[in-house]
Amino acid sequence: MVIIEVLKCQHCGAPLDVTPEDIIVVCSYCGYPNAYDKVFTEENVFFVESLPKSEILRRFRERIAKDPDYKGIRDKIEVVRIEGFYVPLWAGVVKGRGNMRYLIYEKRGNSTRAVVKFKKFEMESLVCVPARRSVYDPAVEELALRLERYGYLSFEKIKDILRYVMDVKPIVSLTPEKWESLELTFLNSDFGKEHAKMALLDRASDVAKQRRVPEDVELKFFKFEGDVKELALVFYPLWKVYYDVEGGTYFVAYDGHSGREVLAVEPVRLWRKVHYALVSLIGIAIAGFSLAVYGNSSYWEALANAGKGATALFLLPAVGAYLGFELARGYGKKVARDVRVEK
Ligand SMILES: [Zn+2]
Repeated sequence: MVIIEVLKCQHCGAPLDVTPEDIIVVCSYCGYPNAYDKVFTEENVFFVESLPKSEILRRFRERIAKDPDYKGIRDKIEVVRIEGFYVPLWAGVVKGRGNMRYLIYEKRGNSTRAVVKFKKFEMESLVCVPARRSVYDPAVEELALRLERYGYLSFEKIKDILRYVMDVKPIVSLTPEKWESLELTFLNSDFGKEHAKMALLDRASDVAKQRRVPEDVELKFFKFEGDVKELALVFYPLWKVYYDVEGGTYFVAYDGHSGREVLAVEPVRLWRKVHYALVSLIGIAIAGFSLAVYGNSSYWEALANAGKGATALFLLPAVGAYLGFELARGYGKKVARDVRVEK
């Protein structure tokens, strides 16, 4: 006999749409996060307390008051919306080893030769990935990055590591009564434990590559293998303050736990554009000046008498021209941009 259990929301009694992968199911009627996988939930699902909405708003006002970028438009800024979410993040302790092969170039007198190097390493880290793949949110991605820890971890249990990084509380301590008093909305996670393990391993491999491959080498081979020793689901508070100014809507995202800014998408102010345009013009001037050297006959005379330094003297104006053009191009692009993202 097959028993089909219909699960109901512990808060409002509405039927829940549950798949076997689910650990926490946020009720689509009232928003209460129901624990489904009881065993896992007790030990491995946490939430972090948030600062109140009023404090986030105070921090936003303080930013507007202090930041010189808002000079002259302060009274035109209108807060249109403030949203608080509990964002689900998968956190995992990944222990693994990697190896790589790369080339470095050694100079011997006038010749350069490539040397093949091998390197092996071990790594243990706490990595985080957003548990919502269907919705890309740069603020959530940035938040996940900020919670990660590298190197050797001093605690054995993931809950102790997490406790060290942030003030985690077991989600089972969030009773319907306490939940009702929260100002933040819980967001459902998109994928379960097995999928999370793969995503965390991928992330650990990326981290290993970033941290362990030496700079300016030609990487020929890289491999990282490891295991997710332990994993946890953490509901982390994230706030977004949306505001209108001069016909556009922008936002500042805050870490609800620390109150620190995570990401800001803000208008590029006119003085900043002027500044970019000036740098761009300087670039053009440098490029022009550098190229003009080649048209000067005394330059060629100097070059003829330069002896050993001739190559350098010949290349210098070209390098100057190149750098000047790059500067002009980079800053020229910035002038055209209307939105600035600050991390
Ligand atoms: Zn409900």
